[in-house]
Amino acid sequence: MTFAELWRELEPLGRDPGTGGYRRYSWTPADTECRAWFTRRAEALGLAVEPDRNGNLWAWWGPSGPRRPGAVVTGSHLDSVPDGGGYDGALGVASALAAVEELKARSFSPERAIAIAVMTEEEGGRFRVACLGSRLMTGAIVPDAARALSDDDGVTLAAAMTAAGADPSRLGPDEDLLGSVGAFVELHVEQGRALAPMGAAVGLAKGIWPHGRWRLGFGGRADHAGTARLADRKDPMLPYARTVLAARRAAADNGALATIGKVIAEPGGANGICSSVTAWLDARAPDEARLEKTVTAVRSASMRYSAECGVTLSVRQESYTPPVRFDEALRDRITDVLAAAGMEAPVLSTGAGHDAGFLAARVPAAMLFVRNPTGVSHSPAEHADLPDCETGVHALALVLEDLAARP
Ligand SMILES: [Zn+2]
Repeated sequence: MTFAELWRELEPLGRDPGTGGYRRYSWTPADTECRAWFTRRAEALGLAVEPDRNGNLWAWWGPSGPRRPGAVVTGSHLDSVPDGGGYDGALGVASALAAVEELKARSFSPERAIAIAVMTEEEGGRFRVACLGSRLMTGAIVPDAARALSDDDGVTLAAAMTAAGADPSRLGPDEDLLGSVGAFVELHVEQGRALAPMGAAVGLAKGIWPHGRWRLGFGGRADHAGTARLADRKDPMLPYARTVLAARRAAADNGALATIGKVIAEPGGANGICSSVTAWLDARAPDEARLEKTVTAVRSASMRYSAECGVTLSVRQESYTPPVRFDEALRDRITDVLAAAGMEAPVLSTGAGHDAGFLAARVPAAMLFVRNPTGVSHSPAEHADLPDCETGVHALALVLEDLAARP
């Protein structure tokens, strides 16, 4: 199957007909459909598909056995943010299948095993901890804490996995599997717009900015919008609103990014004052010092505004990811492979987190980016042109071929 044919099959899965955005939340029926599609397509290529203990899927090609030392692994994720785009994650998975197909069509025979990994809950779109599959695998989150994570409806990860037919009791670090990975190369749609002005179809990742999520809880008092005097109100919406602006200012002051993209106002009546507002702050910066300054500025502004309004404030860090530097030797090797094929791949840093970033702590990891002409991501408008996707597939095939041909 060509990339375009694979894409046509995958594209409709989990897409909301109203918004055109994707709702591929992990361990939901949409996710099950995506997993079934991947399994079907990988098996059609002759790959052996095995779930790992953390709910990630691995499709293996080449020397079999319980350990496949030095395996070359590619892949990405199939889950999405709420109303996300079709390319984030899915492009890396479909490209991996197409790249393996290209190598098989050339009768390539790998010396080292090749695997395609589909990581679970990469976006944290349901359980709010991003890269959950790779965090669990590398021991970056305690299994009990992961099992207890709950979605907006109060369904825990353990319950969601069980309902989807998976076993949450085995969650945890996977040293055997990690020990078999010689290199991990994730192809991903570019998030941002650096490649287009450079006229490059593909790029390579240098590193990932440190980033995190903080939950801000503003506690006020529910009251009647038509009778409560302004002076008597404890309205949590007020410090919340000022905090949104403070986040924007703190980010600008520190050369960082800060976003409040999710808010829950309760009870949420149009004619009432809220009892509480919960908001999530996402902050990222080129280095940890600037990230800390940004978050501290938001937190202290928020405390001040809350106190002024008689509103309580709680701030909880839900996730934190230190900066990632990808393996230089691996990147240089990939640069050479692509240059030999006439492809120039500029090196970029990104503010977006990825499973490759977590795996980079344990194995040599690299990322290939495919040009995003508008730069828009996490939106139904996210896009990559078909010829660029095809270039990405070819680039990935060359990289896998080189890495799997020799130790
Ligand atoms: Zn992604």
